[in-house]
Amino acid sequence: MITVDAESREILCIESYDNNLDTTPGVEFYSGILCPGFVNMHCHSELSYLRGAIAEGGGYAAFAASMAQVRDKFSDEERAKALQKADREMWDEGIDIVADIVNDNSSFAIKATSPIKYHSFAEVFGLKRSNIEYCKSLTINPNTTLTPHSVYSVQSDDFSQVCNSSAAPLSIHFKESEAEELLFEGRGSLAEWYSAVGFECDFLHCGSPARRIVESIPADRSVILVHNCFVTQEDIDLIMSHFTAPVYWVLCPRSNRYISGIVPDVVHLLRRNNLNITIGTDSLASNHSLSILEELRCFDTLPLEELLTWATYNGAVALGEKPRGIINICGADLKAMKLTPQTTIKRIL
Ligand SMILES: [Zn+2]
Repeated sequence: MITVDAESREILCIESYDNNLDTTPGVEFYSGILCPGFVNMHCHSELSYLRGAIAEGGGYAAFAASMAQVRDKFSDEERAKALQKADREMWDEGIDIVADIVNDNSSFAIKATSPIKYHSFAEVFGLKRSNIEYCKSLTINPNTTLTPHSVYSVQSDDFSQVCNSSAAPLSIHFKESEAEELLFEGRGSLAEWYSAVGFECDFLHCGSPARRIVESIPADRSVILVHNCFVTQEDIDLIMSHFTAPVYWVLCPRSNRYISGIVPDVVHLLRRNNLNITIGTDSLASNHSLSILEELRCFDTLPLEELLTWATYNGAVALGEKPRGIINICGADLKAMKLTPQTTIKRIL
């Protein structure tokens, strides 16, 4: 049973259910599961205007190329409207807390009035010309900190500046495509692209994406690694033996399917290693909706208690947040504790 302050709507107490309350006034009953609101651990809300604008399944390079093509075709009003709608949808989908990547200041006005708590990560990238000074200017916004985009798009100086910039967690796109590992071996589509346009990397001596992580980031800085499609046991051993601060592994299965048609089975590797798994939607440029429930359906054979821990507790701890709202999960198989195709979410608080 959950007791909520009638005025402030604050959660006062969570205790086990007592049958005597059946006739007590003010007690509302719900069937199914009462659960804290979800944490979306990876989103780019400012890309919401690109819903449906990019074709599915073309692979990562085609995705990046289409992004560049369609980006300028939308007005500021269209972008703001799409952002507002996405914020509303996330709230209705039971999402309370969002780790949101920002490249500009277009999302902060909506964030200021949203019931959702956002942590914004100003994303540093650029091999030739870096945006680090602009990103620093974005950190004047509430709850906004610097992060490197990835281990393949940021030169050494910027990377170490960002890693030593504050104590906040870093949120890094990690091993989303095979090309990332191959770049460090001087081959693959990223290496070919970089050499075609004349980008030189000053970090390839690290030897691998995972090595770059452990050689660049202080052990006591918490990291959130996003995507992890091509993570290996060797990567996990290296990373987990380096960090003393917690490491969080974000899975965005529907975005991976949208961009590359891949269904990474890395979830089993992460579970076997007992790692902190969390869930993200990525952006509407690479997803049909911003729904954590829809992401969880990709793992519907796994125990529901575990899925809910990924989608709530792990993310909240990663961002140093407390549970805020309450949602009612209806239509789950409560005997087997599994999601079903009929499972839905209703926000209660
Ligand atoms: Zn992303």
